[in-house]
Amino acid sequence: MQTVMISPAELDALIEKWQTYYAVYVPALAKPAAATTDWAPGWRRFVEGEPLILPVGPTPASVKTFYFPQPETLLSFSLEENHPDKGAMREPVKSQGMQVVLGVRPCDAASVLLNQLPFIEDPLYMANCQRTALVGFTCTSRLSTCFCTEMGGSPLHSAGLDLALSSLEDGFILEVLSEKGEILVAGCNLVPASASDMAGLTARRQGAAPGDSVQLQLLRSCALNRLYEAPMWQALGEACINCGACTFICPTCFCFDIQDEVVQGQGRRIRYWDSCMFPLYSQHTSGHNPRGKKLQRTRNRFLHKLKYFPDRFGPFSCVGCGRCIGDCPVNIDIREVLSDLVRCTELE
Ligand code: SF4
Ligand code: SF4
Repeated sequence: MQTVMISPAELDALIEKWQTYYAVYVPALAKPAAATTDWAPGWRRFVEGEPLILPVGPTPASVKTFYFPQPETLLSFSLEENHPDKGAMREPVKSQGMQVVLGVRPCDAASVLLNQLPFIEDPLYMANCQRTALVGFTCTSRLSTCFCTEMGGSPLHSAGLDLALSSLEDGFILEVLSEKGEILVAGCNLVPASASDMAGLTARRQGAAPGDSVQLQLLRSCALNRLYEAPMWQALGEACINCGACTFICPTCFCFDIQDEVVQGQGRRIRYWDSCMFPLYSQHTSGHNPRGKKLQRTRNRFLHKLKYFPDRFGPFSCVGCGRCIGDCPVNIDIREVLSDLVRCTELE
């Protein structure tokens, strides 16, 4: 790993260079007026010469759209007589070209590592990982809804990024963290970071590296299954309207469904985002629904993040980006749910 200094002008030049070889995406602060292929939900193609503007805190949409597109064509087929694809399922030709996602925050970079745990054997997901380079900016300020530090992360973390930029007064420290990062800076004549700049970054990181918070330690140590019938789920289930906004905006939610659709004789099998907050999501073909009540679905969302995912893979499935807090129409706040769970464990 190399660590260099880079001025704002050098960064601009680097981005322009990437543009000639790769598809470079930046956060879209507004939706485009017309349909365009240069747009992924919440992100858009960088336009040469424009200033790079990043919102404070997490980007409006998470980076999961680059790994787990909405929707994603898995196979195509034809129902037309005499069509060469009649009776055959064809895999679509996927782009192999590298895409660079610019402006990723540490919480989202952490979410990419988390999502690789369930998708590790999914060839489409992993192919998207191979061709996506993440260029991130560590955070110098935060929103009132940010709580990465409470979830074991940090505004200054760089895990999951290929290149990490941390601002200094007159430029950035640029950390090259992977082979993809090496490719992105190949041929650039960049000055190694000075010992004092590195010491400053290390000191800031040490001050901001929390590890598991007291709340998380308590949740890890207690048998959350004992809280399955806790009264708090009743109140949450009543408040939640099961709109699913929290799950779509969440970088670590990955429920999906697969359907075949046919338009004028041409079909495709698509994978699209689904939500455990929707009653149909868990309904069996028999009509039985193990999560038929709002309370059951709301409880499942939180226990998936705090109990089922850690039981299976180790880490909690929440990076503390706070997007679900900002987007919930009835103001359900996962930080309050965490505190309520901890209170319940203390009362036990
Ligand atoms: S956004 Fe709020 S109301 Fe909608 S499903 Fe999520 S918790 Fe429920
Ligand atoms: S549960 Fe909420 S705070 Fe946690 S990662 Fe998902 S959107 Fe972010």
